[in-house]
This record gives sequence, C-alpha cells and structure tokens, in this order.
Amino acid sequence: MIDVNAIGKEIRKKLDHIQTERENNRSCGKIVYTGDGIIRINGLHDVKYNELLEVRGGYRALALNLEEDGVGAVLFSGEDKISYGDLVYSTGKTVQMPVGESLLGRVVNPLGEALDGTEQPVTQETRPVEFPAPSIMDRDKVDRPLQTGILAIDSMIPIGRGQRELIIGDRQTGKTAIAIDTILNQKGEDVICIYVSIGQKASSLAKTIATLRNGGAMEYTCVICSTADDPVPLQYIAPYSGCALAEYFMYAGKDVLIVYDDLSKHAVAYRTMSLLLKRPAGREAYPGDVFYLHSRLLERAAKLSKEKGGGSITALPIVETLAGDISAYIPTNVISITDGQIYLESELFNSGVRPAVNVGLSVSRVGGSAQREAIRKISGQLRVNLAQYRELAIFMQFGSDLDSETQKTLSRGAKMSDTLRQRQYLNYSVKEMIILLTVAQSELVDKIPEKKITAYNEGLLDYIRINRADVLEKIDADRKLSDEERGMILSAAEECINYTVGDERESVAAEAETGAK
Ligand code: ATP
Ligand code: MG
Repeated sequence: MIDVNAIGKEIRKKLDHIQTERENNRSCGKIVYTGDGIIRINGLHDVKYNELLEVRGGYRALALNLEEDGVGAVLFSGEDKISYGDLVYSTGKTVQMPVGESLLGRVVNPLGEALDGTEQPVTQETRPVEFPAPSIMDRDKVDRPLQTGILAIDSMIPIGRGQRELIIGDRQTGKTAIAIDTILNQKGEDVICIYVSIGQKASSLAKTIATLRNGGAMEYTCVICSTADDPVPLQYIAPYSGCALAEYFMYAGKDVLIVYDDLSKHAVAYRTMSLLLKRPAGREAYPGDVFYLHSRLLERAAKLSKEKGGGSITALPIVETLAGDISAYIPTNVISITDGQIYLESELFNSGVRPAVNVGLSVSRVGGSAQREAIRKISGQLRVNLAQYRELAIFMQFGSDLDSETQKTLSRGAKMSDTLRQRQYLNYSVKEMIILLTVAQSELVDKIPEKKITAYNEGLLDYIRINRADVLEKIDADRKLSDEERGMILSAAEECINYTVGDERESVAAEAETGAK
C-alpha cells in the first residue's frame, strides 16, 4: 500500500530543507558600476525590491532597481571606499529599524544608530521600515484631541489623535516652531513623540534638539535625523524608519505623535536617487511614483480600533513651498493625502502675526469631532468673524469717516487677531484657551486699549492663576460653558482690567511696550 500522507510529509521535509539551504546560501554578485552613491551589480539572484545588501567591507546598500541584466542599488555608506569588482551579498531582509522604549530620549540615525555620542540603545526588537498601513476594519474614528497648545490651531484647526495634518508654508514662516511647540505641549499627556528630520542643516537640527532637551521633552521623544550632508538613501528612509518606531508604540496601544520635517526635502532626495538610477522623470523631474512615496507613508498614521489596542499615530508632515505656491507638485500631492493643512504665510509672519496661520486657507477635516466641547462651542463663530473682520479691514483702508458701529467691529476684530498671536514656547492649556476666547468675544474687550491686548492677556492668565484659582477649578472643558462659569471668567477679567489697564501700572505699560516692539 502506498501511504499518500507519508509521501506528502517526505516531500514537504525535502522542500523545507531546500528553503533553509537557500537562506544560508546567500547569493552573491559583483559591482560593475559605482558612482554618486549608486552601484550596479551583476550576478545577484533572488533579490527582493527594497532588500538590504551587504557590500564587502561591511557597507550596506538598498536594492531599488531589479532589472533583467542586473540590480541597481543605493549605498548607505562607504561611497568612496567601494570599487569595481567588489562582492555584494544579498541578506534576504528588508531594511529594519531597531525599536523599543530605550530609543526615547535618544538621537539616532534612520538605521537606529546612536548619534548623541553615548552608547548604542539596547533594543530587543526590530521592525521593517516599510510596512502595510492598517486596514479600514482595524481603524476607529478620530475622537480624542491632540492639544497643540497653540490657540489659533486648537480653536480653529483642531487636530485629533490619529489625524494627519500638514504644516505648509514658505521658508522661515515658523513651520518647525509649530511642530516643536506641539511636542513640548505633550508633556504629561502620555503621548510619545518622534521628530524625524530629513535633509535639514545640522545647525538648525542641533538647535531643535537643544530646545526639546531644555523643555524636558526628550523624556518622551526620539529624534531621528538625517542631515543635508548624509547620503541621500538615509534621507529617503528616515520617515519610514520613524514610522516603524511609531508603529511599535501604536500597536502596543500608545498614542504617538510623529513630525516629518520636511517632506519636500524627502521628495528631492528621492528624485536624486531616481534620476541617478536612470528611472524616467515626470513632472518637475520627480519620478512617476512620487505620490506613492508619501501616500504609503502617511497612510500608516491611524487611530486603531479597540480590538487592536486603540493606539494611534498622529502625523504632522511639513512641506515647504516656494513663494507661497501651494499648487506645485509636492504640496498638492501631500495636501490631497492629509486630513487638512495649516497654511503659514510669509506676509503674516513678517507683519508680526505669529503663528502666521492663514485661517482662510487652513482646514482640519476630522479634528472637529475630537475637539473638547467647551472650546468647540466658543470657537464656533471665530473663523467667520475673523474672515468678516479681515474683509472689512481691507475695505475700510480707504475710508476715512467710519460710523461707530463699524469702528467697534474693526477694533474687536483687531483685538481678536491679537489674542491669537502667541509667542513661541508659550503654550496654553485648554482652560486658559477657554478664558482667553471668552474674554476676547465679550464686550469687555472694548475697555482694553487696542495695542495692549497681548500684555493684558498674559497678565490675565497670571492674575487668574494667582488670585482666582477657583475659576480654573470650576471650568469643565468637556461640556458647554455654563452661564455661571462664563460669569466667573468675566468677573475675573474685569478685576484684572481694573488692576492693570485702569491703573496704568508701570510694569504692565512696560510689558505692553515690549510686546508692541
Ligand atoms: P525653515 O524653512 O528654515 O525650516 P521654518 O518655517 O521651520 O523655517 P522656524 O525655524 O520654525 O521656521 O521659525 C523661523 C523663525 O521664526 C525662528 O527664529 C523662530 O524662533 C521664529 N518664530 C517662529 N514662531 C514664532 C512665534 N510664534 N513667535 C515668535 N517667533 C517665532
Ligand atoms: Mg523648519
């Protein structure tokens, strides 16, 4: 009798054996071209797309072009040490990022190697830098806010945990500042932060790291950096490495905030690689798959369902525009992938409106449902009122004699805009935001001189913290502000007006002057 099962078993055993043999027997090829960080290899079989290759001398490369007559790869290091004829081995693995709690507080490169001059972080696990995004069934609605601490954003462009919100603007408009302020504001919020720097100047990166360190944010933050002088492939994988680390925490049920600073430089790095690999160029010389480059990255940001642990990744990608052109290739791509954008404008920034958020062009498509109830109720009309004020202000520039009603609207609008100005590193708590918005939309503002609103606001918050702690205690951010709470806020604000503006105390006047400067 022939036992079919036994034969099957025997064949399977043989096949398993072959499989392991092949894994041990790594295929090997020869470099036939090297230049600009690119190598072409002949004789390398069984290589997967995105596989890590090992070059003689311990250098690593990434296989990107799999062609009939060879493999095209980019080098992570050792560009000047490699020559024609060197042997290259396949590894059978894609690029992996070491992940674990030990990376928090550290500055590492996109391969997980320490850059802060201390010992290598000890990790038990690695994750592939490329990983499929969670499916629709694994996701949940975005329903919890991620507080940035910036009044203009939290009131009008709210961000929820699991959302992707683009920060876009010209150079030097405070894009990084918003991201850093958001990270600093996560202190004590049980959110893990990852800051990925792509192709930035080493000097500005050093400044950012110092800011995070001084602000005590490094305890819950990992910085993954690739500077402008790093090899292009390192810049290319940096955001994916950051995302792999973020996923490790998300799948463990944690909330993660990840900042990609910035994706324009990432696209440029990818373009350099593609052109050197002789891939066909498309619009603005970017390769055809540049949309996929960012969509597969940002799709990995998600809010997971309860069954999957309920963790989340909130992504804040940054994109730099040229002369405010948001209809260029990369900006339009990323705008269409994300759930909204915060648009920063040079004109606003230079005229002193900081953060320079253009409220009209900024939007948050999902964060509204995650906003705290009290803030949502108070800021409901804010956007419309501000838009009306701006329109009126432009129209009235030419008019000389204004009736008192228009004057009042203009002055209130100006005060509202001033309230939304905020110094860097000065983050407001939700309750402080509620106080500021309530006062700015009440009739009380008419009693405060126009140029002094910033100083008054800062004074008011100090005053309430010291003399009226009961107000802070009473406010409940999770429901609509009751009349009683509103009354308390306004009475405290009135006391403060008498205390500061009414008396014209010298300290306040001086403060207002510096504020105006
Ligand atoms: P880059 O294009 O170089 O990356 P950026 O858009 O990231 O620039 P930042 O570096 O964040 O801009 O900010 C530019 C400058 O503006 C910095 O010196 C920063 O300190 C200052 N700045 C940013 N936001 C504010 C603010 N709210 N109040 C005052 N100054 C600010
Ligand atoms: Mg920046």
